[in-house]
Amino acid sequence: MGWDYMLLTPEAIPAYVAGTPRLAGLVDPATLQVREVGDGNLNLVFVCRDADGRGICLKQSLPYVRLVGESWPLTPHRATAEARGYDAAAEWAPEFIPAWYGFDPDRFILAMENLDHETIWRTALNEGLMHPGVEDDMGRYVARLAFYTSVFNLEQKELKGRIAASVNPELCEITENLVFTEPYLDHDHNSWRPGVEPAVMELRHDERHVAEVNSLKVQFMTAAEALIHGDLHTGSVMVEMDGDRGHGKAIDSEFCFYGPVGFDLGALFGNYLAAMARAAARGRPADFTGWVGGLVSGTWAAFEDEMRRLWPERSHRFLNDLYFEDWLLKMLRDGAGFGGCKAIRRIIGLAKVSDIETLDGDAHVAAATAVLRTGSRWIKERHGFTSSSDLEEIARDVIGVEVG
Ligand code: ADP
Ligand code: MG
Repeated sequence: MGWDYMLLTPEAIPAYVAGTPRLAGLVDPATLQVREVGDGNLNLVFVCRDADGRGICLKQSLPYVRLVGESWPLTPHRATAEARGYDAAAEWAPEFIPAWYGFDPDRFILAMENLDHETIWRTALNEGLMHPGVEDDMGRYVARLAFYTSVFNLEQKELKGRIAASVNPELCEITENLVFTEPYLDHDHNSWRPGVEPAVMELRHDERHVAEVNSLKVQFMTAAEALIHGDLHTGSVMVEMDGDRGHGKAIDSEFCFYGPVGFDLGALFGNYLAAMARAAARGRPADFTGWVGGLVSGTWAAFEDEMRRLWPERSHRFLNDLYFEDWLLKMLRDGAGFGGCKAIRRIIGLAKVSDIETLDGDAHVAAATAVLRTGSRWIKERHGFTSSSDLEEIARDVIGVEVG
């Protein structure tokens, strides 16, 4: 399908802002300085600031994947999905996203707070910078969406309507292929350095591993538990320090749809694993490795705490407390399984992570191998996990990071 809408340019943005009533009062279009920062894989992103220092960020989706070019068309309606994620978070978890200024559905433009004074979490982690508390924020963010957008909070017809409205087949197909399928097939999206080959072959020839990944894939495709972010890796979190407490805000929810809650937890867990392996490879100081080694438990504890706080507010009394305990345990195990899949695809498949890619020689091989082996153990052993420390102990055994 051909798409015909005007793409933003830095020069056109002041007039666009001035002509859009919900944006015009936020900044002074006459003095707006615009900078394109789209280092992302998919879209155009502009950060803007006026002479008084008031900011705005505009993100527009292209009708193709920016990383690859026009040869990989992709629906610009991914911005509609991203807006749906922001709408829900603005209602139920506003402190964990940029201030949300709304969506232009005709030109696929999202408007939000300019966070250009903040850092992408992955970048900070790669540099060995601590932002203690971000892991807590992200656990609470996942919990808020999990509670308020699910059967725990919504009336039955409302819930069904939201599930139907949120289907995001093109973006989900990318996840299904890149996370669950391609790493296990010969595919030109895959690559790894020679020393990593034995660990890749180990996974591929392990029928139990592949069967568990199949099961997680089918769960991803069918479990409409709650509205989820859908791509909550450390590159989708912007962080800053406030005193000695870090704060995190989730961005880039274009993979948002009704899916398994454990998929968002797993995206965090899997990327924490990459950060742990890097911290070990870089020989970071004990306070840093201790903090990174405890991120899984930090996020899990915040998620659990927030869910327990919200649980008494549930709108359906037939949901009893014993069910809730079972549900929490399932979320932990799902988080481990999806986390393993997310970590592994970042080593084998398309869109690798800088945490591991920027390591050289033996350090790269050791870190990549440790991520693959830990990920596989999370996936295969998850049915017996009872606590977040089960994940961290495996990571520590395989990687050799001290867990704080
Ligand atoms: P993509 O979907 O193309 O990956 P992202 O939403 O991840 O795009 O944004 C790409 C980059 O733009 C981010 O890594 C970040 O550096 C920057 N960015 C995104 N949103 C904001 C924002 N609200 N404020 C400041 N910078 C942002
Ligand atoms: Mg993106």
